Amino acid sequence: MHPDIQEILLTEEQIAQKVDELGKRISEDYRGYEILVVGILKGAVVFMADLIRHITVPLAIDFMAVSSYGKASESSGVVKILKDLDQSIEGRHVLLVEDIVDSGLTLKYMLDNLSTRKPASLKICTLLDKPSRRKTDVVPDYNGFAIPDKFVVGYGLDYGEQYRNLREIAVLKPGKYSNG
Ligand code: 5GP
Repeated sequence: MHPDIQEILLTEEQIAQKVDELGKRISEDYRGYEILVVGILKGAVVFMADLIRHITVPLAIDFMAVSSYGKASESSGVVKILKDLDQSIEGRHVLLVEDIVDSGLTLKYMLDNLSTRKPASLKICTLLDKPSRRKTDVVPDYNGFAIPDKFVVGYGLDYGEQYRNLREIAVLKPGKYSNG
């Protein structure tokens, strides 16, 4: 185990099984359609890379980058687009892939923004959800795991750009993480 880790919340096997499950559900729901899978950089990259290989309908991918957390662990509610999509989503079935929904402020902004671009449909798939922290009415269409109010890293999620390469989802030791 990585020396900075206090506790493993979700193992590699648990994550892999959930990704498989989500991929199957998505493939069923979109049967007969082509989708555009939009990943939110950078945290969703690892999840998205695994997820798309479990989706069997034709798909294209694109990415958006938005500002959310710096080193602090609270969402400011102010969302800025740092990198926009490369293509139009008008008339397309868009599946937005997020690593974690916390307050929901980031996702709310993205949904509002993307819906003005007239997609045929717009759904959300998140690996992790902290429902107790929600400050908006955003409800993900596909949700991997509901987790307690703990700051987690690994499987794409960072703290100060570290730990994205951990294969598990884990909680850092006190002292390795400052709350804000
Ligand atoms: P929200 O706008 O829902 O409050 O925040 C969403 C974003 O905050 C996520 O995409 C993620 O980047 C970051 N975030 C929220 N909770 C955590 C956490 O427990 N660990 C990490 N590494 N990032 C988090």
